[in-house]
Amino acid sequence: MREMALLPLNDLRRQLGLDDEIMVALRRVIDRGWYIRGAECQAFETEFADYCGARFAVGVANGTDAIELALKALGVASGDRVVTVANAGYYSTTAILAVSAEPTYVDIDPATLLMSVESLRECPLEDVRAIIVTHLYGRMADLPAITDQANQWGIPVIEDCAQAHGAEFESRKAGTLGTLGCFSFYPTKNLGALGDGGAVVTNDETLATRVRRLAQYGWEKKYLSTLDRGQNSRLDEMQAAILRVKLPHLDAWNQERSKLASEYGSRINRAEIIKPPPPDRRDVHHLYVVRTAQRESLQTHLSNCGISSDIHYPLPDYRQPSIQDRFLNIALLETELACQQVLSIPCFPGMTPAEMERVTEAIETWSPS
Ligand SMILES: *Cc1c(COP(=O)(O)O)cnc(C)c1O
Repeated sequence: MREMALLPLNDLRRQLGLDDEIMVALRRVIDRGWYIRGAECQAFETEFADYCGARFAVGVANGTDAIELALKALGVASGDRVVTVANAGYYSTTAILAVSAEPTYVDIDPATLLMSVESLRECPLEDVRAIIVTHLYGRMADLPAITDQANQWGIPVIEDCAQAHGAEFESRKAGTLGTLGCFSFYPTKNLGALGDGGAVVTNDETLATRVRRLAQYGWEKKYLSTLDRGQNSRLDEMQAAILRVKLPHLDAWNQERSKLASEYGSRINRAEIIKPPPPDRRDVHHLYVVRTAQRESLQTHLSNCGISSDIHYPLPDYRQPSIQDRFLNIALLETELACQQVLSIPCFPGMTPAEMERVTEAIETWSPS
């Protein structure tokens, strides 16, 4: 039998038809001799804001910083409560804890695995200072319903768009339906740098200015710090230049992901497997995530067939060893179940029909044990 190469969950090399363009962009940065907060960052901020349909974008060092800066810009501080979900990889929790606020977890909708509007409705919101909504796996949460709830209490909504660059809800892009939108450009994201990067988008000029200042020591201008709790979080010129090359390809890459997801949707037909909701414009398919009660068996079978898979994410945030002592009384039913059942299978731009065939065939020949 012919040895099959391991099929990875994602293969970033496949995007590099852009090698030459990226080299030209990097050359430009080197020739200019200016590496932090210069022409490339400024141009990318304008281009990314335009793409999102937001008035402002601020480049920052990574997606977690973007959320932390959004919280600080809103004035969220020690002891304030911030509502979020617990199935989204501990990123929002990390940012909430970084500003010494208190995470308050609501459950997810079992069909979409996104924040449950029902669960939010049951959550007392009187002293909540912000709600962080994660557009998990590329699918946008029900922002209109969530902001409706939030507006009754005057609570700002932060969108975590780290997996949802380009997703649309009624022709408005992810990041522009809430008060602030936070993006990561970690290499595996729908729009990824060749290193770390992030951005905050907003239509609110005051908040944009606050984020920009907080991201650089609270400086109003050089060596004059006028905002407390500043930090250093900048998008460097190399990464900004690379992102400018890649941004024009984002829609095509998202379409490719969407085609792959459609294909999986029609080809996977196993009673033991629950598929994600069918593709629509709200979803840019950052990951293709199935559910099964026999996850370990499926993962082992795929692995035996040379196919990578991964679990996004195995532990609810409140069960992480770092904080579990503070959340002993919490158990969100749908969150727990999702963490036990989700499995991500290969779905990435550049994935070939033969590779799709391999995965769907392997799933067909799986006998759950
Ligand atoms: C990747 C990711 C982040 C964090 O981004 P970093 O750039 O790695 O800090 C935040 N939220 C979600 C949903 C993510 O997938």
